[in-house]
Amino acid sequence: MYKNFSIVPNIMFGRGSFNQLADVILPHRVNPDSFFVFVIDDVFSGKELEGRLPVQGKDLLLHVNVDDEPKTSYIDALVQKILDYDEVKPDGIVGIGGGSTLDIAKAISLMLNNPGSSADYQGWDLIQNPSVYHVAVPTLAGTGAEISRTAILTGPVKKLGINSDYTLFHQILLDPELLAGISKEQWFYTGMDCFIHDVESLEGTYINEFSKSYGEKSLDLCRQVFLDDHPEKDDKLMMASYFGGMSIAYSQVGACHALSYGLSYVLGIHHGIGCCIAFDYLDEFYQQGVKEFRQMMEKHDISLPRNLTANLDDKAMDLMVTTALNLEPLWENCLGSDWRTLMTRERTLELYKKM
Ligand code: NAD
Ligand code: ZN
Repeated sequence: MYKNFSIVPNIMFGRGSFNQLADVILPHRVNPDSFFVFVIDDVFSGKELEGRLPVQGKDLLLHVNVDDEPKTSYIDALVQKILDYDEVKPDGIVGIGGGSTLDIAKAISLMLNNPGSSADYQGWDLIQNPSVYHVAVPTLAGTGAEISRTAILTGPVKKLGINSDYTLFHQILLDPELLAGISKEQWFYTGMDCFIHDVESLEGTYINEFSKSYGEKSLDLCRQVFLDDHPEKDDKLMMASYFGGMSIAYSQVGACHALSYGLSYVLGIHHGIGCCIAFDYLDEFYQQGVKEFRQMMEKHDISLPRNLTANLDDKAMDLMVTTALNLEPLWENCLGSDWRTLMTRERTLELYKKM
């Protein structure tokens, strides 16, 4: 069966495009008694970017903290805060930040129109009602969260996204100027998330011309950014992130992402750095990709944390292995339908022990 998938319908790209945000959302201010919520990473509290937001009337500025990756309990609390704020629901949500903040904005806009806890919707196509209008303004590039149909959340029993067509943003506004100010390490880790999306998509068994066309372009852009130091590298990384997201939308990620989910669930390691930690041990799966990744690390003088699992007991290691192996489509994409005989618990454990 072929997937019939939706994509973000409205996209604006360019340096300074952030200045047009007011005009972009204006037609969506439909109810005169309503308001917009600006969900902004608290790293921007009191910063120039926050001052440039087109806040008016009853609009709510909602600072979010992403020291931990988004949890379902956090989403539920934020939704309650918005519901308590006013009698009417907001006309729209604008997320401003990296992948974590964008996922928070997505999840809030879904949960404003769907009953219960966000944990009830971790899975595929469980959402019943369309979301509130929502907009992404990324300030980091690489995750592809701006284009994907998932909002990745850590819940009481699992780390899994709310995957649905309603999760997709209605509008994305890509302004490369907003990437300024990020630390070199964070820029690298989030950028490598994109590079790894491309490698896992292109090297996977699910590959097809659609995913290949986007994946190859994204990989080419990543090389210009991380190996050639291209003067327009911020513009290029934003487009690489978008194309990488489009590539995996019609294929899948692979071994590195599966292993990084285990690291994240048990040790709370963030997505980008977790992918980097795992990828460095995956020569046996992605030889050429890992070689290039190491060149990029060397060029940018990045050193990864080591020995993260050294002090974990058997129970924690076991949970990590289970978390990784539960991501069946990722392994099937990586190793084919026979993956269970190839990717045993022992082999997974050995990889984790090296990390
Ligand atoms: P992030 O959003 O977690 O942010 C990382 C750090 O950078 C934070 O401390 C943040 O405050 C800071 N930051 C963000 N923009 C900044 C800026 N311009 N200047 C200075 N600091 C800035 O990082 P990320 O790597 O973009 O996102 C990772 C998250 O995305 C994870 O939660 C992961 O689960 C999620 N993710 C989602 C998808 C998806 O398709 N929905 C895909 C991959 C990853
Ligand atoms: Zn990723």
